[in-house]
Amino acid sequence: MGLVGQLYKLQQLDLELQSKQQELEDVEIQLSDDKALVAAESKLASQKEQLGDLKKKQKSAEWELEDLQEKVKQIDSKLYSGKTKDPKELINLEKEVKGLKSQIGLKEDTLLGLMSQVEEIEAEVKTIAEELGRLKQEWEQRQVTLGQKKKEIEIMLVRLGRDRNTLAQQIDSAALNTYERIKLARGQAVVKVERGKCQGCHITVATSQWQKVKAGDLIQCSSCNKILYLE
Ligand SMILES: [Zn+2]
Repeated sequence: MGLVGQLYKLQQLDLELQSKQQELEDVEIQLSDDKALVAAESKLASQKEQLGDLKKKQKSAEWELEDLQEKVKQIDSKLYSGKTKDPKELINLEKEVKGLKSQIGLKEDTLLGLMSQVEEIEAEVKTIAEELGRLKQEWEQRQVTLGQKKKEIEIMLVRLGRDRNTLAQQIDSAALNTYERIKLARGQAVVKVERGKCQGCHITVATSQWQKVKAGDLIQCSSCNKILYLE
């Protein structure tokens, strides 16, 4: 392989290294992407909190209802025990029972409303918990497959890096410097000449230059400055 051929090969290795490096970064991003999981977890936590609040409200409504029912029972027993003879007091007691019963009716409505809310949230919590379970499973599977992929890419990167170093050591250091300098400035250092044209800028290469390129000399395109390579 001639000098320029070596540089071209070096460029191919550099491009491969670059693309593998990019692939590795992508895999690492995917490996750490737990947004869906975190979102589901926080949604579940907030729904559970809401459920807890509703259950507390339900409990206290139940207690209040029991208190009211107890009061009615006490007055009823007073009314029907026959101990209370005073008609005025009897009327007052009946009035009181009536008032309490309407309070009971309202409290029962509140309680029913709370119960149906609790039921609704419980169903939601169940759905989110299932979804979270599914997401966790997916996450774990992805960790395994992506972890494997990451390892493979790392092995390839080591191999490519080794090949690159071996090749670079064989290349004349002045030529290597030229290559690195152009690569840094232009992204790509070596371009093919096809049908007499530089593939970097599509300008026709002068015959005198073309002949030097053909002879294997390191020639830079007069237009785009890249190293010309003829296969
Ligand atoms: Zn050019």
